[in-house]
Amino acid sequence: MNAERNRVVIFLGPPGAGKGTQAERLARDLDLVKISTGDILRDHVARGTELGLQVKDVLDKGQLVSDDILIALIRDKLASLEAVRVIFDGFPRTVAQAHDLDVLLEELGAPIHAVPLLEVPDEELIERIVERGKTSGRSDDTAEVARQRQAVYREQTQPLIEYYRARGHLRVIDGVGSMDDVYGRLRNALN
Ligand code: ADP
Repeated sequence: MNAERNRVVIFLGPPGAGKGTQAERLARDLDLVKISTGDILRDHVARGTELGLQVKDVLDKGQLVSDDILIALIRDKLASLEAVRVIFDGFPRTVAQAHDLDVLLEELGAPIHAVPLLEVPDEELIERIVERGKTSGRSDDTAEVARQRQAVYREQTQPLIEYYRARGHLRVIDGVGSMDDVYGRLRNALN
């Protein structure tokens, strides 16, 4: 493994903030691999794997899959890479996951470069998710499940903002505006 090329970016932000879209563009421009745990889990559900059958209900309810399952997924994924040049989208989502990720990255010699936080007001988030639900085919993109995901975010994921702020990694970005505007702010914040 070539440790000098390692680079880790962690996207934080509530459901519907646009993490996936921004992370994808950033990954392309910086030659990083985007790791979206939501995409990985949905792929398991779609393929009907053992894991997929196990997590389907949890996803549909807008709750979190267990930390053990997530950290095992991430461990396997990172082990398959030549260099740890990654953007995490949707992981970590709990303080326990953030802590386990720290240990894993330490083992791999891959320090965290930055943690961008995309901020969008709650009212706009539900609207965006319901709009996305018209084409995404995601069973959790309904107003009701979106509200549940928002509550889970507030309780379990928001503490990560302080976690990464305390470590000097946090970069707060206004997530309201066109995709290009937000992307411009993101690039500035990472420089
Ligand atoms: P969004 O960004 O809209 O919140 P994601 O695609 O990131 O949605 O995640 C969809 C669902 O997948 C979550 O609601 C949760 O059930 C599960 N999930 C994804 N990442 C994690 C994680 N790190 N820990 C626990 N559950 C997760």
